[in-house]
Amino acid sequence: ARAEDAVRRLTRWHDDFPTPGVRFADLTPVFADSAGFRAVLDCFAACAPDADLVAGVDARGFLLGAGVAATLGTGVVAVRKAGKLPPPVISREYTLEYGSAALEIPADGIDLAGRKVLLLDDVLATGGTLAAAAELFLAAGAEVVAAAVVLELGFLNGRERQGDYPVTSIVKL
Ligand code: IMP
Repeated sequence: ARAEDAVRRLTRWHDDFPTPGVRFADLTPVFADSAGFRAVLDCFAACAPDADLVAGVDARGFLLGAGVAATLGTGVVAVRKAGKLPPPVISREYTLEYGSAALEIPADGIDLAGRKVLLLDDVLATGGTLAAAAELFLAAGAEVVAAAVVLELGFLNGRERQGDYPVTSIVKL
């Protein structure tokens, strides 16, 4: 309830950003609040206490991923936008409102086979981003034990695009 209260109280809403008709949730003040950030990290750590690796999606998911990994005592993987990582990489395209984008993780250097991954992002909207991120780990032979987001825009039905892993949101609108 502490995490939920902080998210409801501190989220900064902006109409018509980044494009007309979109209402954008900016979680910067939630992350900047010591009690709010702590409560969010503890809530996420509790969703998957058995995770042995935490992954965060570019870019605000990095902040969450690092904090939760430190809480659980695991390592962390940054799921990057295309073109940021040297090859070889595992890549998954996903659709945006206009066009597509891709997410990537390294294809070597980390042994992902059989790992229990907790996947984090700030906002679940149409769900394409989180689904693509999860597919990267599945393609590498890992198991996504849980996915969690701070804010779920439930009217966009992003949950329906997710695979066979539980999705937790601190606040669902
Ligand atoms: P989706 O793929 O449509 O679910 O969009 C989710 C991705 O877009 C996440 O990585 C979010 O960071 C970002 N996103 C979408 N809507 C918002 C918003 O209102 N606030 C902040 N980020 C958003």
